[in-house]
Amino acid sequence: MLVEVVGEPPLILDMGTGLRALGHHLNVPLIAAGRPLRGNALLTHLHYDHVLGTPFFPPMRDPGALLDIFGPAQGDNSLQTTMASMVKPPFFPVHMADFRGELNYHDLGTDDEFTIGGIAIKARTIPHIGSTLGFRIEADDVVVAYMPNSVMGRTS
Ligand SMILES: [Zn+2]
Repeated sequence: MLVEVVGEPPLILDMGTGLRALGHHLNVPLIAAGRPLRGNALLTHLHYDHVLGTPFFPPMRDPGALLDIFGPAQGDNSLQTTMASMVKPPFFPVHMADFRGELNYHDLGTDDEFTIGGIAIKARTIPHIGSTLGFRIEADDVVVAYMPNSVMGRTS
C-alpha cells in the first residue's frame, strides 16, 4: 500500500508480496528521470505476509536507492538484524546487505511520534501476535490510520 503526499517521497505501508508490483510502478518515473528511489516504509509487524516482498522490491537493484524502514523494535535484536535473518541463503540467493540499494532501519517503541518530511506519524501498540504497531499518518490536514486487523481471535 502506498501513501502519496505532494512534495514528499513515497510512503509505503508494509512490505508484503504486493511490494514487487509497487516497485515496478514506482520505477517507471524513476527510470525515466534516471534517479534511484528515495522512499520510506512503515512496518506494522514482521509476519511474512507483511515483509515477504522486501527481497523482491525492484528499486533495491539500483545503486543509490535508499529506503528508510520504520518498524517495531524486536527485543534483543535490532529490526535490521531480524529482517536480515529472513533474507539469506538458503531462503534467498543473496544476503540483504548485498542489495545495490540501501535499506536503513529505524526501531520504533510502543508510543513513538516522529516526522518524515512534512508527514507526522504516531505509532501505537496494536493487539496482535508479536510486537505490532498501528500508525496515525497526517499530512496536509488529512489523516490516515493504518493497522493490522484482529478479528474473532484470528489474525493476519
Ligand atoms: Zn500478523
